[in-house]
Amino acid sequence: MLSRLRPGLPISRDTALCLIRCSDDDLPELLEAARAAKQSFKPGVITYSRKVFLPLTNLCRDYCGYCIFRRDPSDPGAHTMTPEEVLNVAREGEKLSCTEALFSLGDKPELLFSEMRETLRHLGYKSTLHYLEAMCELVLRETSLLPHPNPGLLSAEWIARLSRVSPSMGLMLETTNVELLRPGAAHDNAPDKVPAKRLRTIEEAGKQKVPFTTGLLIGIGESTEDRVGTLLAIRNLHERYGHIQEVIVQNFRVKPTIPMAGWPEPSQGEMLRTVAVARLLMPNVNIQAPPNLSAPYYEELLYAGINDWGGISPLTPDYINPEKPWPHLDQLRLRTEANGFKLRQRLPVYPEFLPGVMAKPGLLSDKLHAAVDNQGLARRAA
Ligand code: SF4
Repeated sequence: MLSRLRPGLPISRDTALCLIRCSDDDLPELLEAARAAKQSFKPGVITYSRKVFLPLTNLCRDYCGYCIFRRDPSDPGAHTMTPEEVLNVAREGEKLSCTEALFSLGDKPELLFSEMRETLRHLGYKSTLHYLEAMCELVLRETSLLPHPNPGLLSAEWIARLSRVSPSMGLMLETTNVELLRPGAAHDNAPDKVPAKRLRTIEEAGKQKVPFTTGLLIGIGESTEDRVGTLLAIRNLHERYGHIQEVIVQNFRVKPTIPMAGWPEPSQGEMLRTVAVARLLMPNVNIQAPPNLSAPYYEELLYAGINDWGGISPLTPDYINPEKPWPHLDQLRLRTEANGFKLRQRLPVYPEFLPGVMAKPGLLSDKLHAAVDNQGLARRAA
């Protein structure tokens, strides 16, 4: 099957299903094919985005079984950042040459919690999304960082509004398996994790030509067939709209205090197979896997066809997986280069999507012009 691969041409569903279930004996050949496909797409370079992580609010109306980030208002650590806190973190990040302000937050907490409605009223905003929009605009105006919001499901109107203050945005599809919504499964009591709703948000971003980051989460109760199905759903949207700037393959990591504390983690072999099949299904799409979730063996992901390490922060922790610190950037560089690749800092929007965003005159375009180098990467490239 691998010998019949045609460089640059995506594999079929049946081939993907066969490859993702390959034996350990066949795995090296699968990885070789995926790495070759990556090298045809973007030879010699692995990128990352130097970012600050801004957890604008950790209140969330969903209760995903693997989540350690979310809080109810009465939980210890429940917090909504003030504009001053947002700006302070962004300015600290600016001093460390960060170029991305990643806004990660719970989905529509004000629909469930009167405390969040009160916080928003006090801050002077009608909803979490209105507040997010204002904070993106604040960071864009006051610093050199470029916002990348990840606020959950979005309507057409909100995609349009946020795209005026951020060059890209994101929503993990996670999975297309609706069975994970059933009682006791990962998305039990998570109304915003209905796959059809998430696909609708991603599609709407496509209609508006907004560079979009999405991906799948493996090890939350889905099958290998579901993994292929999720990748195909993303590929299908990208074929129709051409807006998927990046596909993240993220592995579930267990934590002692989450509802899924007793679940097994996906193996490194499952991770490598999924990344490799993602690369072969989408040979010309940026494929990313977070190094901290595969440490200490993260460089093996380079052999499975990734071309990006995602957002790495020299300042803020990974609030989604706080027990897994990001690698030090010097270490990441050393280990990337030891495996034959140059490490380059990119912006939160990938080079091939920049012209479309920069074509619209205004503050966002001005800030992008100031941040970008002649290859579409970060001007202050490390
Ligand atoms: S994963 Fe996101 S949507 Fe789910 S509970 Fe956590 S913050 Fe909320």
